[in-house]
Amino acid sequence: MNLCVLGAQWGDEGKGKIVDLLTPHFNVVARYQGGHNAGHTVYVGGRKFVLHLIPSGILHPGVICLIGNGVVVDPRALFAEVDELAGMGFDVRGRLFVSDKAHLILPYHRELDILSEARRGDRKIGTTSRGIGPAYEDKIGRRGVRVGDLRDTSADGPLVGAIRENVDARNRLVGNSEMKWQDVLADLRTAWVRLEPFVTDVSLYLSRAMAAGQRVMFEGAQGTLLDIDHGTYPYVTSSNAIAGGACTGLGIGPKTIGAVLGVTKAYTTRVGEGPLPTELLGEMGERLRESGQEYGASTGRPRRCGWYDAVAVRYAVRINGLDALALTKLDVLDGIEALDICTGYRCGTDVLTEMPGDTAQLALCEPIYETLPGWREPTRGITRYMDLNANARAYVRRLEEVTGVPAAIVSTGSERDHTIIRDDSVAAAWFR
Ligand code: GDP
Repeated sequence: MNLCVLGAQWGDEGKGKIVDLLTPHFNVVARYQGGHNAGHTVYVGGRKFVLHLIPSGILHPGVICLIGNGVVVDPRALFAEVDELAGMGFDVRGRLFVSDKAHLILPYHRELDILSEARRGDRKIGTTSRGIGPAYEDKIGRRGVRVGDLRDTSADGPLVGAIRENVDARNRLVGNSEMKWQDVLADLRTAWVRLEPFVTDVSLYLSRAMAAGQRVMFEGAQGTLLDIDHGTYPYVTSSNAIAGGACTGLGIGPKTIGAVLGVTKAYTTRVGEGPLPTELLGEMGERLRESGQEYGASTGRPRRCGWYDAVAVRYAVRINGLDALALTKLDVLDGIEALDICTGYRCGTDVLTEMPGDTAQLALCEPIYETLPGWREPTRGITRYMDLNANARAYVRRLEEVTGVPAAIVSTGSERDHTIIRDDSVAAAWFR
């Protein structure tokens, strides 16, 4: 059965670890949206790997990794990652393929990202300044440059025309410096020499792989609440991080997605701006940040931390049709006396049990909590559910009740084997 693994909160849920863990049971891992703004951290044998663009499945020899048309690709970032992996002994040749329909992030996109954030002032989004948003803007504006466009760099070809127009537009916007389209083109010509062997028709590749009985994992980046349509707009990413994004971002039919696994932390975090109803600004927020090491894998920015928001996760269950949760970082809660779970929002005189679509309204919502006792016995590294202490089990059980889906995987540490796979859950089939 094919499986879609995605973030069910505001990103950074620990998807990297979960994808890495599941990868040996799949033949292909396909990334469907986002860019190198993602940061998936995987620890294997004490070694740390941070992957931004390349699916974390690459750490498993023999597994094919695909970057779909829904992803935006900065060739420099891609090759930096390829080189870093090579330096660590991972050869990606013949195992990594990029869609010819994926859009490119070009140097002017990075500049426009920074400029646009500066112009927004107090209303800034908190982007990673990597050019992701402007690259998607060009895609939707039908002036973007796709990987496959690099095949034809002739003077009267569509690539040269697009680059000229885009660089002209950039020069009009950024008044104090001049970018030369010829320089951009020269860099792209150089990039193509290296990129070409990686380029393929990802949709066709997947279709053939699935017809041959291969199992595919679809990997989402960021998280449901950062989805361009269903997240806390405008404080969102520029792509569809939800399960539906796998179809458009890879060119697959919805029925090929066998099951959907949502990754959530045992609490909540968010990086950048935008509402976060359960945010803890005091000592407890600091404690979660320090024990959970909540600093962005891509940017090092401190993440905002709060209690588990079951309203947000229930929303993710609905939007993605989640079959199960992978609950990560349970160990971060070790030693905390009492744990709050947000089961509803108070908004003025209204009590809401569903996520409001209006971000301004969400910003005014106060969480309604129920409190469960914490635990002193460490959960870190535990691999069997029954070895968790009774309060930790009760906490997991309550999260399952309030979200309406089973926690099929519970993660108790950053290492691969710090994981509980619930044999009695849907997850058992994914590990066969
Ligand atoms: P992603 O973008 O969703 O892959 O998440 P990140 O990689 O940005 O953040 C997850 C961080 O949490 C990484 O440093 C992981 O190694 C770490 N991590 C994942 N699962 C666990 C866990 O169960 N316990 C602890 N303590 N850390 C974890």
